Amino acid sequence: MGKLDGRVVLVTGAARGQGEQEARLLAGEGARVVVADVLDDQATALAQELNEKLGADTALAVRLDVGSEADWAAAVAAAKGAFGKIDGLVNNAGILRFNELLNTPLAEFEQVVRVNLTGTFLGMRAVAPEIVAAGGGTIVNTSSYTGLTGMPLIGAYAATKHAVLGLTKVAAMELARKGVRVNAVCPGAVDTAMSNPALLDPDADLTASSAALDAYYRKLVPMGRIGRPEEVAALVLFLTGPDSSYVTGQPFVVDGGWLAGVSPF
Ligand code: NAD
Repeated sequence: MGKLDGRVVLVTGAARGQGEQEARLLAGEGARVVVADVLDDQATALAQELNEKLGADTALAVRLDVGSEADWAAAVAAAKGAFGKIDGLVNNAGILRFNELLNTPLAEFEQVVRVNLTGTFLGMRAVAPEIVAAGGGTIVNTSSYTGLTGMPLIGAYAATKHAVLGLTKVAAMELARKGVRVNAVCPGAVDTAMSNPALLDPDADLTASSAALDAYYRKLVPMGRIGRPEEVAALVLFLTGPDSSYVTGQPFVVDGGWLAGVSPF
């Protein structure tokens, strides 16, 4: 018996990184998962792998640009066609751009808002009615350490991640009596392509790049290392499953203690 037997969960940005590990873990706990991403080939390969390992009807890959209303409608229809319902959503897709606030082009700011914030809004608006119709369920939004504090050079990103927390709280209050719990995860630095671009370079020495990141974060993070995507996935499982049955409207930090304080030593 898995913790998510009978559940159907759509995970955005599921082709790689944290979303991939979330899809893997949720499927491993018995959920049927919709692997949604703009990276068609990687999403399809992951869904195929899950279906081979866990059973033919475990996973469905859909092409979903989270900033597109039409894509959301098509993804919901495809998920219901394959699995009959949706009762879980993990809004994980996100992008990061580095720029000083005063040098940030409007188009770049709006691009980050479109994926990180509008994508989360559209996801909840498209999927929450399906969760209600299915008798209740969960939404997990992806904020960040920088949804709770500032960091130079990522103004657009930090603004969207703060906003995701506001949206999460409002959604939780509006949907609680309809049986939908809505929470957010706030990861610190996590070893995915977003924080470790070497993961996208087929010729890179990944052991060395991860070790370099650990060395860098040893100075910043009390636990002395960068986080692993599997560690964020474990929190998403908790918030999606029955162990969090009385939890809604909250941000959950998973950051190795980074946000606990600044050490002068
Ligand atoms: P990643 O870059 O490996 O994964 C992001 C995924 O989102 C990719 O699969 C990408 O194709 C997908 N995506 C991008 N734009 C999309 C769109 N318009 N529609 C659908 N999918 C889209 O990085 P990650 O670390 O796995 O990021 C996952 C989430 O975690 C993001 O929301 C990110 O902001 C957040 N986060 C990451 C870190 C970190 O250090 N890696 C820290 C805090 C929060």
